[in-house]
Amino acid sequence: MKLTEKQKNCPYCHEKGADHRIKMIEDDPDGQAGLVLRQDGWHLWTADPFTFEVLYPIGYCPMCGRPLNEEED
Ligand SMILES: [Zn+2]
Repeated sequence: MKLTEKQKNCPYCHEKGADHRIKMIEDDPDGQAGLVLRQDGWHLWTADPFTFEVLYPIGYCPMCGRPLNEEED
């Protein structure tokens, strides 16, 4: 599959090196969300005052739509 420029340059779903920090995509007082790459794949991380922290496995980047389970060139 060919990636679009937006997908290639997406700041959220490309993990360089071993720095597995959460890449914040939303940071509001009543809710935070971010993407994080863990050993078992990419996850959407969310936190809010009621549910605390939740991790969902994801197959596509919610920001650019790139499939996350394909190897990068
Ligand atoms: Zn992306």
